[in-house]
Amino acid sequence: MIQGISFIVSGPSGGGKTTLAKGVLDKLDNLRFSVSYTTREPRDGEIDGRDYRFISEAEFQKMVQEERFIEHALVHGNYYGTPLDEFENARTSGVDLLLDIDVQGASQLRKGYPSAVFCFVLPPSFEILKERLIERSSDRDNDINKRLIRAKEETEELNLENYDYIIVNDNIDQALERLSSIIVSTRCESKRLVEKVKADFFSGIK
Ligand code: 5GP
Repeated sequence: MIQGISFIVSGPSGGGKTTLAKGVLDKLDNLRFSVSYTTREPRDGEIDGRDYRFISEAEFQKMVQEERFIEHALVHGNYYGTPLDEFENARTSGVDLLLDIDVQGASQLRKGYPSAVFCFVLPPSFEILKERLIERSSDRDNDINKRLIRAKEETEELNLENYDYIIVNDNIDQALERLSSIIVSTRCESKRLVEKVKADFFSGIK
């Protein structure tokens, strides 16, 4: 059995990661969303267990103590973490996993999981990010400013060491096409397939 591949979609808040993640999950088979735990309140339309697992700060800290996250971070005042069990289950059962996480989380994983594929998603410019954040503005002005400052820092820190791919989200359909292509081509890498295809190819020979 081929091990599942983890695809990390990261980048500044407001860059379109969540829309991209939803789009690619609809489009490709054998790809599962890694449902994170968070201490933030659910937004309208969000479902516990599908979008996030919503828990209290005490529950979150208990999980940290028990080392049940492969990464966790404080993002805009709330805690978020990726559960270890789901990550390992996907890997060993040959299912690919899509993680929508912030830049701090991606940087924690980069060290421990070099075989994962790291994609940085960003809007074409700072001005466009600002417009998008204002448009979607469920957030207060103060929150938007915090997100913009953080987006600047995260994009400044972007370098060859921490990401394998960069997806400029100028148009959602094209960005989706790029992310799907990255996933499909990674699945075809010879280092991942060589043993299995040879075994399959020769298996019927008597
Ligand atoms: P939101 O609250 O808007 O859904 O997400 C806020 C930020 O938290 C986004 O940048 C999202 O990618 C990030 N995030 C979601 N889940 C996780 C997680 O498990 N770990 C980390 N480090 N960030 C996460």
